[in-house]
Amino acid sequence: MRSLTDPTLLRSQSYINGQFTGEASMAVTNPATGEVIGLVPHLGAAEATAAVEAAAAAFHPWAARTAKDRGAILRKWFELIVANRSDLATILTSEQGKPFAEALGEIDYAASYVEFYAEEAKRIAGELLPSHRTDARIMVSRQPIGVVAAITPWNFPAAMITRKVAPALAAGCTVVLKPAPETPLTALALAQLAQHAGFPAGTLNVITGDAIAIGGVLTSHPKVRLVGFTGSTEVGKILMRQAAGTVKKVALELGGNAPFIVFDDADIDAAVEGAMLSKFRNMGQTCVCTNRIYVQDKVHDAFVAKLVERVRALKVGDGFTEGVVQGPLITEDAVTKVETHIADAVAKGASIALGGKRHALGGTFFEPTVLTGVTASSQLAQEETFGPLAPVFRFSNEDDVIAAANATETGLAAYFYSQNAARLFRVMERLEYGMVGVNTGLISTELAPFGGVKESGNSREGSSHGILEFTELKYACIGGL
Ligand code: ADP
Repeated sequence: MRSLTDPTLLRSQSYINGQFTGEASMAVTNPATGEVIGLVPHLGAAEATAAVEAAAAAFHPWAARTAKDRGAILRKWFELIVANRSDLATILTSEQGKPFAEALGEIDYAASYVEFYAEEAKRIAGELLPSHRTDARIMVSRQPIGVVAAITPWNFPAAMITRKVAPALAAGCTVVLKPAPETPLTALALAQLAQHAGFPAGTLNVITGDAIAIGGVLTSHPKVRLVGFTGSTEVGKILMRQAAGTVKKVALELGGNAPFIVFDDADIDAAVEGAMLSKFRNMGQTCVCTNRIYVQDKVHDAFVAKLVERVRALKVGDGFTEGVVQGPLITEDAVTKVETHIADAVAKGASIALGGKRHALGGTFFEPTVLTGVTASSQLAQEETFGPLAPVFRFSNEDDVIAAANATETGLAAYFYSQNAARLFRVMERLEYGMVGVNTGLISTELAPFGGVKESGNSREGSSHGILEFTELKYACIGGL
């Protein structure tokens, strides 16, 4: 692995109750080279229980501090993340594969949540409501919910963590985090910086190991009051079921299947640009990545021609190589899924306009691919591909395309391009999605509420809404006045 300015950021132990602990045994590999870049502990139920108990013991003292005090420690963590952005991005690219420039972007994006919630801690307000009695007052306050469990995926090894951990800590909660087995090193480096920032022991715990055993404890231990999860819809449903036993709150950010609609009154160059950004970022491995591109008859051929040109120019390779914008996919399974979706779409009538197969570089590298003539019965119309595959469907009228866009069980992000003001509002309002990009392919920011509807989830991360997820309302009837 490339050397780090601060080699101590590369940890090989979990972080529980303020201590790095556990025997390093589970390999973390670089998907671009197959090289083992680190080892982390394979912990289970006993250590998960210890982490929850540490978080529970740390909860009351942490919640009792002033919001300004908690915010100051978060602010320090933010500054340390920014100061170490290059090392963090190096670790991130090494374990995840995304191009180094994208990894730097992710670290800045991850840091932005810490910065925002350091400030937002002070703005959790209550209310004094008009009373039902002259001798009483209705006082409503927001208290931190308690111990929060966070289970995060590999596609954003830093940002998916800070989006949950920063608002939880800012609100006065304590956290047990289980990062993805593919990308634990970024998580542990963030824990190390949190330790330097001055979070008290037990406030933030990071546990690596057996997902099912750890997940079992995190979803059943009575001291955990909220389970925050980003990942597949399938695992989200399992966790929701498990959490029902102790009636925990669950905050889920699950899969998407984003439609990207280009109407014939769109600015085609802008639409192609937006499609490139929303489709090929992180090699198509984000839950808000475009999964289906719908283009109206009149502009179909022009759009496809421009898209193919842009996709052809994408440089594939190791994320540390200058000019590379497409790294490897995360695992062999990820490659198989892309191959399956291509074969299925072609069997159902699609044509390959570009790419379509594994890249000559071998490993998990895949050729950025464009399909045309894709049909509604294709598997990818219902399931997210999570890879560098841009399938183009052709459509004629607005009602049909809205029906097609909404005909999935998911509802995370949708995108469309049009220059007609009436259409902008009409289509935006009819899309059954938690987020809509209108004339833009990039929507993520700490300033907006990120989240989905239908089977894509039930919570929001980012903005002032994102911190309220970690609080509970308390109503006090103040009588005898
Ligand atoms: P992906 O397909 O993106 O890897 P997953 O939903 O499988 O998504 O994984 C997301 C996170 O959920 C990872 O941290 C993974 O280890 C964890 N996970 C997977 N299965 C379980 C489970 N049964 N209980 C708890 N965590 C799980």
